[in-house]
Amino acid sequence: MGKGLKEETLDPEDWDEMRALGHRMMDDMMTFLREVREHKFELIPVEAIKNIRQPLPLKPRGYEQVYNDFVENVLPYPTPNIHPRFWALVAGTGSVYGMLAEMLAAGMNTGSAQQMFPTYYVHEQVIDWIKEILEYPSEAGGVLVSGGSMANYTGLAVARNVKAKVDMKKHGIQGAPQKMTLYCSTQGHGCLIRSVELLGLGNEALRWIPVDDDYMIDIEALEKAISRDKDAGHHPFCVIGNAGTVNTGAFDDINMLADICDREDMWLHVDGAFGAWVKLSKTHRHLASGIEMADSLAVDLHKWMYMPYEIGCTLVRNREAHYKTFRYEAEYLETVSREPRPADLSVQLSRYFKALKAWMLLKADGVEKYARLIQQNLDQAGYLAGLVKEAPELELTAPVSSNVVCFRYFTDGLDNEAINELNQKILPQLWFGSNVIPSDTTLKGIRTLRACIVNHRSKREDFDYLIKEVIRIGKELQNSS
Ligand SMILES: *Cc1c(COP(=O)(O)O)cnc(C)c1O
Repeated sequence: MGKGLKEETLDPEDWDEMRALGHRMMDDMMTFLREVREHKFELIPVEAIKNIRQPLPLKPRGYEQVYNDFVENVLPYPTPNIHPRFWALVAGTGSVYGMLAEMLAAGMNTGSAQQMFPTYYVHEQVIDWIKEILEYPSEAGGVLVSGGSMANYTGLAVARNVKAKVDMKKHGIQGAPQKMTLYCSTQGHGCLIRSVELLGLGNEALRWIPVDDDYMIDIEALEKAISRDKDAGHHPFCVIGNAGTVNTGAFDDINMLADICDREDMWLHVDGAFGAWVKLSKTHRHLASGIEMADSLAVDLHKWMYMPYEIGCTLVRNREAHYKTFRYEAEYLETVSREPRPADLSVQLSRYFKALKAWMLLKADGVEKYARLIQQNLDQAGYLAGLVKEAPELELTAPVSSNVVCFRYFTDGLDNEAINELNQKILPQLWFGSNVIPSDTTLKGIRTLRACIVNHRSKREDFDYLIKEVIRIGKELQNSS
């Protein structure tokens, strides 16, 4: 230890100064969220991109300066999903208390959850509460993951390993005596493709089954596809049910899928990323009937449970199979307990304390509040559908089964192609002119506007405004063409 040795740390030299800066950040974010309705949707200007893209910073710019850089170049251009008039894709709004919980989790900087720490019990409690809300069997296990994609991947990994006619961990898919096939409707989410690719199954093993007029999986076509594959010597091992499709918010008949899986000795996986939460609704809970029979169930909490990104969850009925799929042994990971930890139930080893926000949010507002918000969104979807039906210039383009409303501007004078073009032009004007953010999609060749309502900030007047603007823009475009 020589004289003059200067040892450094990242802790602040001046705690009071850092504390004051922290308070300023907190105040700024409170104002930012309180005034979220005033935000205008605008793309990041070139100037701000230039300020973000800078040479590797070798010397300190200072805590306050960098925070100012954030306030100037990042914060003014938020992704619009937090706005009350955002209904594009399926995107979460987050919440103020959720933001605060995230700070606490980051401050604790917990990297693992094991039985000697509270992090383990908070995680277990959250999993139990999720099971209870979704009426999933209490003996099932589960794990929190980053979101719906990871939740689906995790469930499908267990499905593959359990149903394989080979020791999958040892030999991999290369050892399977038959081609393993799985089934999902054409309305399945794109992340399912990524999952089967990463699981080594190959994306052609995922058979896309057509849907009926309600965008539900065609059961007869499914049964035919399964028997065709069996006849060809393949091994159908899994059906993926949709509880809430991205395009139209449709729900497959999960009970029927459970029967088929039972009969065929197949695994039932359900992607309930947002839709599973209709279990909290009085009017729509029947749609999710049967998800409790799934062998594995994937859900998001950062969409229709309004929690800040990222948080998703995989529930697996067979705990042992779940544990066996992900567990590995390493001398440096020997722990006091043999109970599975979250790290034994997913790809991640180190994991941040995402359970904390779920635990705090569910407790602070109570699950009944979440049930009311979900019901409010469903009622708003019904309200919006009603407005579309009343307007002679508009028409629904798909049945409204839950919280997604698909519709378009329509006029008798134009052919389908021209109407498609017109509706495609409406969208950017809604975004950048009217500051209202639905998205669009194509349903059976029809270009359609689409509002997916998972937003706790939306009010009925926001939907009145949407309709008014679509009609106004549609008419203007029609007259100018
Ligand atoms: C959003 C979504 C996913 C993917 O979830 P991420 O949280 O975005 O990874 C999967 N399935 C459905 C039905 C979704 O809506």
